[in-house]
Amino acid sequence: MTYANTQLLIDGQWCDAKSGKTLPVLNPATSQEIGRVAFAGKEDLDRALIAAQKGFEAWRKTPAFERCKIMRQAASLLRERAAEIAALMTQEQGKPLAESKAEIGMASDIIEWFAEEGKRVYGRIVPARNLAAQQMVLKDPVGPVAAFTPWNFPINQVVRKLSAALATGCSIIVKAPEETPASPAGLLKAFMDAGVPAGVIGLVYGDPAEISSYLIPHPIIRKITFTGSTPVGKQLAAMAGQHMKRATMELGGHAPVIVCEDADVELAARSAGAAKFRNAGQVCISPTRFLVHSSLKKSFIEAMVKQAGNLKVGNGLEDGTTMGPLANPRRLTAMAEFTKDAVSKGATVSAGGERIGTTGNFFAPTILSDVALDAKVFNDEPFGPMAAIRTFNTMDEAIAESNRLPFGLASYAFTKSLKNAHLLAQQLQVGMLWMNQPAVAWPEMPFGGVKDSGYGSEGGSEALEAYLNTKSVSIVCDI
Ligand code: NAD
Repeated sequence: MTYANTQLLIDGQWCDAKSGKTLPVLNPATSQEIGRVAFAGKEDLDRALIAAQKGFEAWRKTPAFERCKIMRQAASLLRERAAEIAALMTQEQGKPLAESKAEIGMASDIIEWFAEEGKRVYGRIVPARNLAAQQMVLKDPVGPVAAFTPWNFPINQVVRKLSAALATGCSIIVKAPEETPASPAGLLKAFMDAGVPAGVIGLVYGDPAEISSYLIPHPIIRKITFTGSTPVGKQLAAMAGQHMKRATMELGGHAPVIVCEDADVELAARSAGAAKFRNAGQVCISPTRFLVHSSLKKSFIEAMVKQAGNLKVGNGLEDGTTMGPLANPRRLTAMAEFTKDAVSKGATVSAGGERIGTTGNFFAPTILSDVALDAKVFNDEPFGPMAAIRTFNTMDEAIAESNRLPFGLASYAFTKSLKNAHLLAQQLQVGMLWMNQPAVAWPEMPFGGVKDSGYGSEGGSEALEAYLNTKSVSIVCDI
């Protein structure tokens, strides 16, 4: 299996860093170095910034219909190249090949949806008090954007930002993840090959803190968008605030799964279980706090344990693998700590709880039952293949627990009762709620969190608003 080194994309050219510096890229299934990624310094960033300004001037003057055609062509190229790019993604990130292909398929859908939605950035006409005047609300692209994206969905974390920026006429510099650089480079290559003019999109890698603290205050950058952990998000949002830059923050969550007394237990375990172990649980909307009505405790735990036992953990490139390794050794350490802490506070390990083997970052699908409320795993986002289960007796209890944490990203519920469904829809403090189904983040639906999970949306028409400035114009014409 081949794996290419990854270069920077600056002003339409793929290039090494000026300094020649690179970082290693490791395969999380083997812990072996598989390639290198260019490490941008200030000179590279300066070139990327000047190119982004130039790109913005050209792209904002490109009609939305033309932008749409180029974006749709990028989506087609991405689909054609899905197998090749998926193999890169699995090698650098670890997820099973089928998940990598599905991510790329969804990315193509996202591009197409945004491409079309860009044609509907309408503005509006407002009746004027002076009949000789025409009052208009215009929507302008905000300007060059700096985007910071993580390693868990190397393409999909980029594509929502990139597509919204391009659809609205912005240029964008993406600081993609150093741990998984080749697949996002494949995404940007599809856009370049589709005819995006030089400078409109840029791609850099390097030291994340150095790059963000250079790009965010820079006068060329008008908006920032970040996906990652809440502590880093707060730092970047503070910096954006200091420099009066627009910001979208898609941060961590700790999704409650409420399995009500009248739930279909098999459906709940199948849906939430599949969502739990997708991408080895390294998903911001992954179900994490399982709140199960006490009458269903036994049957739910049994169904979850069975589900965990049916997973085939292994190298994502191998046929039949349904769960890959964790993306980096940091997550392995975190999983071991979560388990130890929960057990010390009285939890039972119903499945897994240990690393598998000594090569690669494999951790067994883990089910923890009777987890104490003060266990770390019930308070900090586990971001791994770990389901922590507690019981409840009343809906008020379940809602209070769901809303207890500062996070408010995704949530799930299983119930046959319309009354429960309405109650949860009204009372959960979250950005997203999926009932009686696993999560699917369709591009046409808003995607984002509340509270410490961030602000702004990366889906639906709200996602385009985030890349637009509003301008009030009033013209008196009879002079
Ligand atoms: P981390 O907080 O060090 O990094 C998370 C991401 O932010 C990485 O992509 C990193 O490159 C980037 N980053 C870190 N510091 C930055 C800075 N100063 N400027 C710009 N970018 C910066 O954590 P990690 O060990 O990589 O991941 C662990 C935690 O991060 C998880 O527990 C999870 O909460 C969170 N995370 C969330 C998402 C998500 O989809 N919301 C994705 C990946 C990680």
